[in-house]
Amino acid sequence: MAPYRGRFAPSPTGPLHAGSLVAALASWLDARAKGGRWLVRIEDVDAPRCVPGADREILRQLDACGLRPDEPPVWQSTRGSAYQDALDSLVAKGAAYPCACSRKDIEEALIALGRPRRRGEEAPYPGTCRDGLHGRPARAWRLRVPHGMVHWTDRRLGPQSQDVAHDVGDFVLRRADGLWAYQLAVVVDDAAQAITHVVRGEDLADNTARQLVLQRALGLPAPSYLHTPLVLGANGEKLSKQNGAQALDLADPLAALDAAAAVLGLRSHAAGCTLDGALAGWAGAWPFLQSGA
Ligand code: GLU
Repeated sequence: MAPYRGRFAPSPTGPLHAGSLVAALASWLDARAKGGRWLVRIEDVDAPRCVPGADREILRQLDACGLRPDEPPVWQSTRGSAYQDALDSLVAKGAAYPCACSRKDIEEALIALGRPRRRGEEAPYPGTCRDGLHGRPARAWRLRVPHGMVHWTDRRLGPQSQDVAHDVGDFVLRRADGLWAYQLAVVVDDAAQAITHVVRGEDLADNTARQLVLQRALGLPAPSYLHTPLVLGANGEKLSKQNGAQALDLADPLAALDAAAAVLGLRSHAAGCTLDGALAGWAGAWPFLQSGA
């Protein structure tokens, strides 16, 4: 079996908060519990959403919490040529195609098909450009998603399945604004960094099937997946900057880690324990050691 390699992959849209620390801590603990390596990847492909300096701030916060990567961090903004190579290889195989549709075109096509999009719902792409652009200019690039159910087992959530072709349709790999889509960047980088175990927040769980489909299309190995519980804000929704998450208080990293550990079902560290002692204790008690691959 390939040696364990895990990662924490924050988008630098702001500093770490109580919610993102749970994913950081969980991925670190899983790597330590399994005697593996732990990497940090800064996911800054969506440049307009990135906050200048947030990447450095996140790395400082991780360091203050004793979560230190085993290899130098990688910035996705430096990886454009790898994403282009992946897209080129898909296009060469006929597995990706250019798309001329605007949001409005897609809505109109769905209405014409009698499947209007419901409010707040991301409607599946109706496949308008699957058979060519018919003279319209290309805007984005999409994956030609094969029909059929995708099955996998999440190490915490158990058996999962999704029909990506039906629920999502041919999804975007390169956006109309020229930016690389998260799905392509994450799949290419997880493979390039030989990641064997993905541990991340449950809000990302519904991307997994798309990532498995894309890995298959690119002939890449699939890592195992563990999605961690979310921290909810006062409004009952996932804690985020938008609903008032505070940046971690680095005056007391152990208190922040303690709260994150509790979300993961781990007991508070013994009083008087050092940061590294608390981390080692949690790694020793890590509940997901036996689950999955
Ligand atoms: N960059 C993503 C985020 O911060 C996480 C990606 C992943 O872990 O796969 O939401």
